[in-house]
Amino acid sequence: MPRVITRKDHILRFEDFDLQPEILRALTDLGYTEPTPIQEGTIDALLRDKDMVGQAQTGSGKTAAFMLPILDRIDPGSKDLQALILCPTRELALQVADASRSFARYLDDVNIVPVYGGAPIVEQITALNRGGQIVVGTPGRVLDLLRRGKMILSDCRMVVLDEADEMLSMGFIDDVRDILKRTPWGKQTALFSATMPDPIKKLAEEELHTPEFVKVASKEITVDTVEQRVAFAEGRDKLELLERFIQEMKPPTMIIFARTKIGTQKLADDLKRRGHKVRALHGDMGQGARDSVMIAFRGKRIPILVATDVASRGLDVSHVTHVVNYDLPDEPEVYVHRIGRTGRVGREGFAISLVANKEKPKLDAVERLLKRKIQRWGIDEPVQPLTPEQIAVAEEIEAAEESGEVDVLVVESEGQPQASSESTVDGDAPKKRRRRRGGRGRGGGGENAGTPVVAE
Ligand code: AMP
Repeated sequence: MPRVITRKDHILRFEDFDLQPEILRALTDLGYTEPTPIQEGTIDALLRDKDMVGQAQTGSGKTAAFMLPILDRIDPGSKDLQALILCPTRELALQVADASRSFARYLDDVNIVPVYGGAPIVEQITALNRGGQIVVGTPGRVLDLLRRGKMILSDCRMVVLDEADEMLSMGFIDDVRDILKRTPWGKQTALFSATMPDPIKKLAEEELHTPEFVKVASKEITVDTVEQRVAFAEGRDKLELLERFIQEMKPPTMIIFARTKIGTQKLADDLKRRGHKVRALHGDMGQGARDSVMIAFRGKRIPILVATDVASRGLDVSHVTHVVNYDLPDEPEVYVHRIGRTGRVGREGFAISLVANKEKPKLDAVERLLKRKIQRWGIDEPVQPLTPEQIAVAEEIEAAEESGEVDVLVVESEGQPQASSESTVDGDAPKKRRRRRGGRGRGGGGENAGTPVVAE
């Protein structure tokens, strides 16, 4: 039965969870006053030793969602590896390890060791030998360390698969399965993923034991503060349009998303030839090169970054003012994730999508998700009304949400309802995929359910 936690009801504070005072103190230092929706749904389930699947994106607060319950249950008296977090990229592994250390700052004798490829293994082995109860690593390096006998999982009680869909698309899924095989039977497993493609559902079915599901809508990334525009162009005309955009908008810090690694590099090269200060970020680059690009971009020494989704995942660059979708992503949810790079923490941002004719179905899907048309850039015309089909789908979503009988969660912003992530995953009509359940509001607030729906 799903438990529905509504925005209206929720009175949870971190103090309401059974977390150690040292952890609560660290959260106060960090300025975390109340849990985010994914944290509300996840922390309690993990503290109750449940397996769980969390559908949420970077920016939702998912790191604390899994790490706080882990830290709470680490035995500092033992130096054995007790929790393993697998992440798709070195950047994310480092980010998760850093965040975890900040949550653990008042806990004595808890060590967090990041391990990842592209860096000397010897230093990582030394760190492991000193005793790391929590290891955050990329699958390739973790497997390497296991095969060398330098990492022992026999006492590992908690495993997190972070950004599982990215690990899948980067080809790590077999490594992940191999690693899971080496963990003890009966451990607790949590899987987080922005999207739920079939192989990830299958992995969850096979590896998790009667998991709870927590899903949060993309609203956690604040798209309301982002002004969005669309412009139509074919092939090389996109480059001219982009040039015009840069000249007119003079964006201080901009990320341009392209779909392929080759396309990303080529676009960066084209822009460089035109005299722009720009760098590329994609998976074909070596670790060192990727690090140096990120450092330069974070330090605002490079105003323009051309990136693939995968390479830029997990990176919290809060000063981005403009986002360009040079290509539209296959999944509309990724659009929301991309433009969420700007307009962070209530700041205003601007996002433009350059759309070729063949990408129009993708634009339709994005507009269905947003429940509104995106206005054309540079054309002073009112926003076009939705088509009857789009209105029908939007009404269906709203009716289902209000009934409280769906296992989806929609977070409402002030005034404007947001589309649920359920309607975005594999491009089917949301109607077909929406599973109805006998929903029950917790605390009597089933109407206009706001935040995550947790289903058992
Ligand atoms: P994450 O999705 O884990 O990468 O978190 C995104 C950002 O939200 C990070 O900068 C976190 O420090 C911040 N954050 C996470 N949880 C909270 C919270 N409960 N209150 C305020 N900020 C938070």
